[in-house]
Amino acid sequence: MKPTDLKRRDFVRYSALGLTGATLSQISVPASSATPELKKPGKEDPLHQKVLDTCLIDTHEHLMNESERIQAEKTIWDNANDWTFLLSHYFDSDLVVAGMSQEDHDRFYSTALDPLEKWKLIEPYWPHVKHTGYGLNVRHTLKDVYGIDDLTGESVRKLEEAYHATIKPGFYKHLLRDIGNIESCQVNLWPFLESEQPDLLMCDLHISGMIEENWDPRFAEEAKIDVKTLADWHRVIDYWITTYGKKAVAVKSTMAYHRDLDCIRTPPEEVDKIFLKKLNKEPMTPTEQKSLEDHLFWYTVDRATEMGLPVKLHTGYYCGHGRMPLGRIRGNPAAICGLCQQAPETRFVLFHICYPYYEEMLSIAKHYPNAYMDMCWSWIINPLAAKDFLKKYLVTAPANKIFPFGGDYIPVELVPGHAAIARQGITQALSELVNEQWMALEEAINLTDIIMHENARKLYGI
Ligand SMILES: [Zn+2]
Repeated sequence: MKPTDLKRRDFVRYSALGLTGATLSQISVPASSATPELKKPGKEDPLHQKVLDTCLIDTHEHLMNESERIQAEKTIWDNANDWTFLLSHYFDSDLVVAGMSQEDHDRFYSTALDPLEKWKLIEPYWPHVKHTGYGLNVRHTLKDVYGIDDLTGESVRKLEEAYHATIKPGFYKHLLRDIGNIESCQVNLWPFLESEQPDLLMCDLHISGMIEENWDPRFAEEAKIDVKTLADWHRVIDYWITTYGKKAVAVKSTMAYHRDLDCIRTPPEEVDKIFLKKLNKEPMTPTEQKSLEDHLFWYTVDRATEMGLPVKLHTGYYCGHGRMPLGRIRGNPAAICGLCQQAPETRFVLFHICYPYYEEMLSIAKHYPNAYMDMCWSWIINPLAAKDFLKKYLVTAPANKIFPFGGDYIPVELVPGHAAIARQGITQALSELVNEQWMALEEAINLTDIIMHENARKLYGI
């Protein structure tokens, strides 16, 4: 497997983006192809102004440390460190789905072409993908970070220069706080990011490598444990949860990228022999594999819960293209009910509104005290679905269990754009609730602090 493929696969393991009642009439879409923009709010739109002025706590990103970005000669996929990095995550999937060949896709992001020659490859597709959530995020980034109205053959030269000029010490804080009005981000890297700026980048411990991802050997190596039995592997998990749990804000699992979340509590004596099969690389039946993963999931989740760490779970839509098994994803909400019932003390934070099955997630948030909803990534998967989810959530489930924003990005430059799209959606959801007389304006304004940062401060102890 090429290093590029390995890194792409690694990333998959690491993971997983509205308008006031007054809004529709307020939006000014210039005659050119520039990014749609809300009119500057004034006294007549206090809700919109409040959402702009209120800082967000960003509960999910995949950012590396700033010093690594500054030193990087290539991107994490071994691609060119040029303006196309801004179109790589997650926008590249829209290009392929729109019809770009894999060969052209790979050349577009590679070091083989001059950065200024690359526009020709994307030009036929740009008009068809610039309106998606991923495309809108790119355009917000062009405008808000680089002052560029739209991607064109001419603007690419300016963008290439501005892209490199922006990457310098302090650029993370500038982009996140000055442009994005984001107080802090919670970062999910494999398995853990030792943050250089702990007040800005906080960290999740990724647990999939302890459960279903072939047990990344780095876990046992660092714990200095020679694994011969299931009990040894338990000690490896204990080491990681104890050591990194003190520094982490939560643990994170991407299990739903590989199987459903229907984990059943399974005692060790039922899986210790299966564990030896796995250790010796002997074939396992699908039932055996599931039992072992079920056991390890609960062992790890219980240790995290004892450490006071919330458990973040990917649910719903898959990143990438051409591989999403919607039949299985549809089972996520029902499986989550099983998790919430089996571990009432565990606080499950459920990601991405389980898109497209978000109506089911509203019922889970309403019914289970230990189910929290994190809207990370959903604003750019389908901005209007995310707006509808938030609007319905606020009249369905308690407001102290929702986190409305996580950019879910590797390039930090794209985070302020996602925050702008989220603020547009938050404004629209609240304004519609006011205009349709489900709540008073003052109540909507009071909810902004609660959902945009107070909930995160409470759950994650920030
Ligand atoms: Zn993610």
